[in-house]
Amino acid sequence: MHIKKQRLLTPGPTPLYPPALHAMMASDLHHRTEDFRKVYQACVSDLKEVLATSYDVVPLVASGSGAMEASVSNLFSKGDKVIVCVAGKFGERWEGITKAYGLEQVVLREEYGGAVSAQSVAAALAANPDAKGVFIQASETSTGAAHDIEAIARHVAATGAILVVDGITGVGTQPLKIEEWGIDVLIGGSQKAFMIPPGLAFLAISPKAWARADASDLPKYYFNLKKEAKNAAAGESSWTPATSLMLALAEALKYIKSIGMDKLIDNAQLLAKATREAAAALGLELFSPGSPGSAVTAIKAPAGMDSGVIVKGFKQRFGAIIANGQGSMKGQIFRIAHLGYFDFADLFAMVAALELLLISNGHPVTLGAGVTAVQRVYAEAAGIKV
Ligand SMILES: *Cc1c(COP(=O)(O)O)cnc(C)c1O
Repeated sequence: MHIKKQRLLTPGPTPLYPPALHAMMASDLHHRTEDFRKVYQACVSDLKEVLATSYDVVPLVASGSGAMEASVSNLFSKGDKVIVCVAGKFGERWEGITKAYGLEQVVLREEYGGAVSAQSVAAALAANPDAKGVFIQASETSTGAAHDIEAIARHVAATGAILVVDGITGVGTQPLKIEEWGIDVLIGGSQKAFMIPPGLAFLAISPKAWARADASDLPKYYFNLKKEAKNAAAGESSWTPATSLMLALAEALKYIKSIGMDKLIDNAQLLAKATREAAAALGLELFSPGSPGSAVTAIKAPAGMDSGVIVKGFKQRFGAIIANGQGSMKGQIFRIAHLGYFDFADLFAMVAALELLLISNGHPVTLGAGVTAVQRVYAEAAGIKV
């Protein structure tokens, strides 16, 4: 009762991988040295390995949004027509960035909790044969929904448009076959499934997308992808890199490689499945029941209860930070994260805590019903007969 461990359980920043955190203490090194070039090159080559791509991977010192902006400013030109898929707060970020750079937008909007279908992307491409790009989230972290990137990529690949995927919470939680499916730009960020603090982002860039960079007339200076790719090949970054985060990333990537990217994805998918089953066992509704992703599960608070009560209860009773809804979803939902360094012991505890919080806030549930659902998913996956 009296000791409450601090636990960061949000879908970004996510729980940190301890050896990566410890590696950051070795950052009293200079970035224009052979020692650091080795770290930089290892990060780039390990990123390519875990993403299973031969495309250039360009790291940036920025949170994920910086890489999103860089994809627009470097690969498009003023007035280019683009299709923007919007199904939540992060889709709205694509809308904001493409607007800020003066692109002509065709917005495919879905209600929060929904997902933009491959058919509607195909229809928009057919109606706009001059579209230069399609922007989308693999995983819309604000609602817990995932997009069918495979089906969408196949439509985009058949056109002259490039597909720019915000995979910031998609990488490590759902398969994203860059070359096989035809993803032209895949964006990731450090504070999600990579298990390290915020401040690094990266883009994998296809030759089809690179061809755009030469023609791009939008203003850019700090985020210059061509320059960054050229320097990265030599183990350097254009500006002073976030050396501490690179040391952390190198360590986290070793860990991810040792597990295997497919197993990291499987881990998130199993936790997400167990969470959905726990929600059902507790009579709670999902916010994105039609296309739930595996980065995070958004659960509606019971009728009449503000989800902030659950979020606050986690903090006050158990020292744990979980995510509320963003924007207009605040107070309606709470979000249980699965991406990166989360395991079943975390989930047993979260669901046990959730049951107590529901009961203490006037929503009676059968104690243990949600935890049992999680245990059953674990037992089945682990081959334990129950
Ligand atoms: C976290 C996140 C981002 C990036 O947000 P930053 O605050 O810039 O790191 C972008 N897209 C999605 C889907 C995210 O979850």
